[in-house]
Amino acid sequence: MLGSVFSVLLVLTLQTHDSSVEGLEQRAYDYTKYHTMDEIMQWMWTMEKDHPDVVTSVIYGTTYEKRNITLLKIGLNSTKQKKIIWMDCGIHAREWIAPAFCQHFVKEILGSYKTDSKISEMLKNLDFYITPVLNMDGYLYSWKDNTTRLWRKTRSPGSENCTCFGTDLNRNFYANWGMVGISRNCCSEIYNGKSPLSEPEAQAVTDFLSNNRDNILCFLTIHSYGQLILLPYGHPNITAPNQDELMKVGLAAAEAIKAVHSMSYTVGTPPDVLYPNSGSSRDFARLIGIPFSFTFELRDKGDHGFKLPEDQIQPTCEEAYQGALSIITYVHDKSYVRAAATSIAATLWSVVMAVWLSSATD
Ligand SMILES: [Zn+2]
Repeated sequence: MLGSVFSVLLVLTLQTHDSSVEGLEQRAYDYTKYHTMDEIMQWMWTMEKDHPDVVTSVIYGTTYEKRNITLLKIGLNSTKQKKIIWMDCGIHAREWIAPAFCQHFVKEILGSYKTDSKISEMLKNLDFYITPVLNMDGYLYSWKDNTTRLWRKTRSPGSENCTCFGTDLNRNFYANWGMVGISRNCCSEIYNGKSPLSEPEAQAVTDFLSNNRDNILCFLTIHSYGQLILLPYGHPNITAPNQDELMKVGLAAAEAIKAVHSMSYTVGTPPDVLYPNSGSSRDFARLIGIPFSFTFELRDKGDHGFKLPEDQIQPTCEEAYQGALSIITYVHDKSYVRAAATSIAATLWSVVMAVWLSSATD
């Protein structure tokens, strides 16, 4: 009797302890709200401090206003050369759901790798490089007041004879720069900048991708809105060499998204499903040989547009997480699982050949 009372007490104590820990985490960070740049920076430090064995922060550039552009590198230690999955959010300032998604993605990965053997396997082979907010200056500006809420571009000044501010970062990359879907007017939302890579944020991403191009398997850049998964290229006359495979992987991701909350995402190249454009980071990544490169345009389809209500943050992130995971799993398995299977098959085949050859010569 005493024993069972004791064990009930013990269970109660453990449960109380557990729920208080969960309660603490929830109080510490609310993933169902939009957060300021300061809060997101704090959150990044917390992730690094709380998961020192898997999370490292890396500064890889500075913005026009001299803020450190920081990513979280997430992966398990390995003695082998690891491959890289890139994800950036917040290249366009007003698309607040994008940074919210990057944070959700990090939370999910860190919350599941100890219990989910597939996530753990992927973290052994891959490092995730995740930039929660790339256009930090613009993001801060979009938080300033109601008149700046819909700011899209960077915060660098225009050319000498143009007094407007900001360049569209996603038109500033060295990928068919200036060819289609851009404006040379510095007051335009799609002004492509004084020159390719005039923006330090685009330069920072370019340097990182170029220096690591042989190891990057997949490039994901997160935007809103429109519920689309976009493949390279934005220029209607250029086709990626693996376009069919990109389409197949994109369609599988859209199916994974739909299975969560029945939301439809359309898959295709920008000229086919949106509008032609040039100078995007997605196109640059594919152009330098990163095989899988996608843009996600998250919810919605225009009802709320960039001002997606906070009660949609969680469902949007839940479904997009499954979409991203579908792509990452495919890319991982292509390099590791199927590659291993092929090498086993090759070994078996050479054994068969050796046996056959030796029997033939006997
Ligand atoms: Zn965007």
